Amino acid sequence: ATPTALLVGTGRGAQLGLLIKGPEVLESTRAVDTIVLDKTGTVTSGRMSLASMTVVDGVGEDEALRIAGALEDASEHPIARAIAAAARERVAAGSSGALGAGAGAGGGAAATALPPVESFANREGLGVEGVVDGHAALVGRPALMREWSLSLPSSLERARAEAEAAGRTAVLVAWDGEVRALLAVADTVKPSSAEAIASLKALGLRPLLLTGDNAATAAAVAAEVGIAPEDVIAEVLPADKADVVRRLQSEGRVVAMVGDGVNDAPALAQADLGLAIGTGTDVAIEASDLTLVSGDLRAAADAIRLSRATLRTIK
Ligand code: ADP
Ligand code: MG
Repeated sequence: ATPTALLVGTGRGAQLGLLIKGPEVLESTRAVDTIVLDKTGTVTSGRMSLASMTVVDGVGEDEALRIAGALEDASEHPIARAIAAAARERVAAGSSGALGAGAGAGGGAAATALPPVESFANREGLGVEGVVDGHAALVGRPALMREWSLSLPSSLERARAEAEAAGRTAVLVAWDGEVRALLAVADTVKPSSAEAIASLKALGLRPLLLTGDNAATAAAVAAEVGIAPEDVIAEVLPADKADVVRRLQSEGRVVAMVGDGVNDAPALAQADLGLAIGTGTDVAIEASDLTLVSGDLRAAADAIRLSRATLRTIK
C-alpha cells in the first residue's frame, strides 16, 4: 500500500505542476520545518533591468555604460545581461559623438558593437574584470572594488545607499584605478511570492532568504514578501550557500531549499529537500528532488501539503 499511495501522490504532484524525482521524495518532504529561498530568480523574477545610473564628475554616462557593457557581455549573470543589453541599446541609439566606436562606420552590426575585451575574468559572486580599449576595468559589487583597494567617492556612496534602500542592486564600474560610475539594477518580486510565503508560514515552516546580494537590497525584498529581517542571510558567496544549509541542519532543522541558479546547485543537493525553479538552470534542476515547473513559489506550499496528505493516506 505504501508505494501505491506514494505513486498516486507523485501523479497528483504532476497535476499541480510538481515534477517529483521519485516516490520517496514525498516522504522526506514531510519533516521539513525550514525553507531556504534563494532571492534572485526564485523570490524575484530575475529579469533585471538598468533602472538608473550615477557617474562621477568628468565621466560621461555613455562612456561608463560602454565599458561596463563590454565586460558584462561575456557573462551569463542576469545582472550582466541587463547591463550589456542597456549598453547595446545606448550604442545603437547612436549618441554618436562621444562614443565614436562604430557609429556611422557601416551601420548594422558595427553600430551595436561593444568594444573588444582582453584578459576577461569572471569573478563568481563578485563581478567581472578585464581590459577594455586598453583600460583595466572592473564591474561588480563593492567587495570587488575593495579587493582592488578602490574606495567609493562620496557621490557614489550616496547613490549606493539610495539604490539599496529601494531594493536595487548597486553595480560599480571602475577603470584606470578609480570607481567612476554606479549602475542601479532593478529586479521585481514575482507577484505570487508574498502569497506563497504566507502559505509556507501557515504550514508551520520558517522561510529564510538566502542571497549573494547585499544586505540592504535583500532586506527590502524580504520586507516586501513577509520574511522577517532576522531571517535574511545576505552576501553569501556561491560556494558558501551549501554551508548555510549544512549549518541549519546541524542546528537540528530539516531544511528545504528552493533555487534556480548554477550557484544554488550544491545547496539544493545538500538540503533534505531540494526544489528547483522550472524556469531556472538545468544544473539546479538536476541537483533537486523536485521541480516547480512554472517557477511559481506557491507550488512549494502545494508540495508540502501534498506530501502531508499522501503520508496521512499511508498511515
Ligand atoms: P545571487 O545569489 O543574488 O543570485 P550571485 O551570488 O550570483 O547572486 O552574485 C552576488 C552579487 O555579486 C550580485 O548580487 C552582484 O552584486 C554581484 N555580481 C555577481 N556577478 C556580477 C556581474 N557579472 N556583474 C555585476 N555584479 C555581479
Ligand atoms: Mg538565483
